[in-house]
Amino acid sequence: MTMGHVTGLRCKGCGKEFEKRPVAACEECWAALEPIYDLDAIRRTFTRESIAMRPRDLWRYHELLPLDGEPTVGRGTGFTPLIAAPRLAARLGIRDLWIKYDAACHPTLSFKDRLVAVALTKAKEFGMDTVGCASTGNLANAVAAGAAAAGLRAVILVPEDLEAAKIAGTAIYKPVLVGVRGNYDRVNRLCAQIADQHGWGFVNVNLRTYYGEGSKTVGYELAEQLGWRLPGHVVSPMAGGSLIGKVEKAFGELATLGLVEATPFSIHGAQPLGCNPIVGAFKQGLPAVKPVKPDTIVRSLAIGDPADGPAALATIRRTGGRGEDPTDAEVLEGIRLLAEAEGLFGETAGGTVVAAAKRLAAGGAFGDGRPVVLLITGHGLKTVEALGGSKLFDTVIDGKLAEFEAFWARREAAA
Ligand SMILES: *Cc1c(COP(=O)(O)O)cnc(C)c1O
Ligand SMILES: [Zn+2]
Repeated sequence: MTMGHVTGLRCKGCGKEFEKRPVAACEECWAALEPIYDLDAIRRTFTRESIAMRPRDLWRYHELLPLDGEPTVGRGTGFTPLIAAPRLAARLGIRDLWIKYDAACHPTLSFKDRLVAVALTKAKEFGMDTVGCASTGNLANAVAAGAAAAGLRAVILVPEDLEAAKIAGTAIYKPVLVGVRGNYDRVNRLCAQIADQHGWGFVNVNLRTYYGEGSKTVGYELAEQLGWRLPGHVVSPMAGGSLIGKVEKAFGELATLGLVEATPFSIHGAQPLGCNPIVGAFKQGLPAVKPVKPDTIVRSLAIGDPADGPAALATIRRTGGRGEDPTDAEVLEGIRLLAEAEGLFGETAGGTVVAAAKRLAAGGAFGDGRPVVLLITGHGLKTVEALGGSKLFDTVIDGKLAEFEAFWARREAAA
């Protein structure tokens, strides 16, 4: 592999350029930084033909990821299935519908494994021995697992009242796991202070510039899996607001490099009504995102003051997308719809995307008939609490045929 196509970092606010360092934001204006890629050098090796011959994981797009050496974390992660969803399409009234199922092909069953592969490889390049994160759950799982595999120490901070599977699925890898009383926004502020104090690599704080780039691989995979074409519509969940913008960036890079035709696409954003700072701003036509206090079952998207909120809003507006913010009840219906129609189990963030797509379809957002892709970013087994424990059995019987037959007869009679 030829590696190392990043020449420096550039501020998205004022344009000032920096050397490659673990730094959270621009020292002049506090806006986010982005790696600068040498696209002319990348063009030489990044072709459809060469990519086709590479292993089917996220590193097949390594030229457009911010590494200086070989990837050391996350081999085998990514290249998740893109699945045609005709039965869900019929239920939602969408002509051509696809599911990008990022609950599979990742060690911790969410798309956060993509970001952590990049961030921890980068942490090792910077010579760090301790990594960490502030998390609403999925990132904690991914950092804990990735650090274990990479032989790094992990210090992870989460709200102490997260779903059981998100906590157990972090603790099993033996990180230092700190539960914080309060919501994610409080945890995140604390992590910024700890990263400063100790010089540790917090993936979504001082490694954020590199970490976020991992999300672009969702966009590269989508284009390749559609036969090097861009979809017409993407519906993306939004928490900190990074993923949605990275999908737009990925499509733009592929068009610039000539791997796809620059056909028009719209990217739509989904948040639960109980935490909708970005969608709320979109719907009210506000110039900026207004922070909210989260109150929703969708814990993975419960970030009230999203770091990349303004960029997410800009992506929606620039691509002619829309925003939708379904209620928690609609989210649960969305989870069930995806499971019953397509046999795919998404977490609450997935339910949010399906429910948002239902509203978008009803509102005519997909009226042009172009292909629609829903990003299902995490597995439903991580958020079973949301579905409620009771009433999962249709009946409970002794192991006797007569009891089953009595049950079946009752059921047939009721139908
Ligand atoms: C983190 C996360 C998101 C959103 O990511 P952002 O880039 O922060 O907007 C979406 N879905 C799931 C399941 C997540 O864990
Ligand atoms: Zn700046």
